[in-house]
Amino acid sequence: MKQFYELGISNNILRTIEEENFEEPTEIQEKSIPLILEGKDVIGGSKTGSGKTLAFSTAIIQNSEKGKGIQALVLTPTRELAEQVSKELKKFSKYKKLSITPIYGGVSINPQIEKLCRTDVVVGTPGRILDHLSRNTINLSKVRTLVLDEADRMLDMGFLNDVEKIIRKCSVKRQTLLFSATISTDIYHLAGKYMNSPVKISAENYVDPKLMKQVYFDVKNKLKFSLLVHLLKLEHPGLVMVFCNTRKSVDFVSRNLKKNNIDAIAIHGGFSQAKRTQTMNQFYKQDIYVLVCTDVAARGLDIKGVSHVYNFDIPKDSKDYIHRIGRTARAGNEGKVINLLSERDHENFSRVLRDNDLNIEKKQTPYIERVVIAFQERNNKFNNSRRFGKRPRTRRTHY
Ligand code: ADP
Ligand code: MG
Repeated sequence: MKQFYELGISNNILRTIEEENFEEPTEIQEKSIPLILEGKDVIGGSKTGSGKTLAFSTAIIQNSEKGKGIQALVLTPTRELAEQVSKELKKFSKYKKLSITPIYGGVSINPQIEKLCRTDVVVGTPGRILDHLSRNTINLSKVRTLVLDEADRMLDMGFLNDVEKIIRKCSVKRQTLLFSATISTDIYHLAGKYMNSPVKISAENYVDPKLMKQVYFDVKNKLKFSLLVHLLKLEHPGLVMVFCNTRKSVDFVSRNLKKNNIDAIAIHGGFSQAKRTQTMNQFYKQDIYVLVCTDVAARGLDIKGVSHVYNFDIPKDSKDYIHRIGRTARAGNEGKVINLLSERDHENFSRVLRDNDLNIEKKQTPYIERVVIAFQERNNKFNNSRRFGKRPRTRRTHY
């Protein structure tokens, strides 16, 4: 195992690495940083939480100078991730003082336009970057380091065309780095088109089984929510993420948890950006310990101290399962994944088991009290009626 100083990283970054108390590079960092700093195009595949951000940040920081136009662009699938990567870059570039600007939609565009005139590095989502391109308020012709972060996610979310349009606006004399938790044939296709003899690096893809325990319960659908409440009350040493497949399901779970006196917050694509940011900050600060979310909203976020991941619904796509479980057992901490299956999850669960080499232990359903379910999953009127000042209609069902 090499040390950070042996990878060719400049002293100003080494200083912040030391201040962050990173003792040694992760596998993907050790393998990719020397090649990245040599200027090679790199495709890096490794699980979430393995430190890919620092790997590409080294190149961006070392190859950019203050006040010389936008020299680096990082594309991310979500707004939250743009915000997070931009914060990390600011942290690692503390002793170089680069100007780093996150650019994403859902917030007003004018302040962004102003910042874009002076910034050295942009971290953004494809939609808003394209918007700026069409207004001529961003100039990518000087981009020498282009990073596609969470590339698999960007393609899954249908950003391929947007991403291609953006890549074509960057200088051809550039280094392109592509990072992804999973590497599919679509990714290779994209790499073949826009990268220059890329070197592929991958690190151990799955979590350390010694640190992560995965279990499942198989219950009747009508008992599933009660089981969740039961388990949440039983053990909660750290932060908890509860994943659902749809926004409706997130609303159902989060509202009913609150009804059962469990402090929960929800995040999904249906909330305004301001609300999403506020929610994430509450969770980061550990004000609230249960976050109920969809895959999209939680993509690539680095939240420290997640001890439990619950799958209230089993995801359709088995790659999402890997992304979800990557939220816990990070940076050497222990984590637990609890899958709550009912009839409707069996097909998805079989797919997860078929596509991945996982060890998920079956648990007997304990004796559980049926809890109050005040809001039904299909009760869409809730939001509207509240907006118009009426009391929401709630049906009380005991199960
Ligand atoms: P990825 O992009 O691979 O999902 P991140 O770059 O978000 O992972 O890193 C996950 C977490 O690990 C971050 O909190 C980061 O600060 C931390 N980290 C990165 N590299 C190291 C390291 N070498 N040692 C300890 N922690 C690290
Ligand atoms: Mg990442």
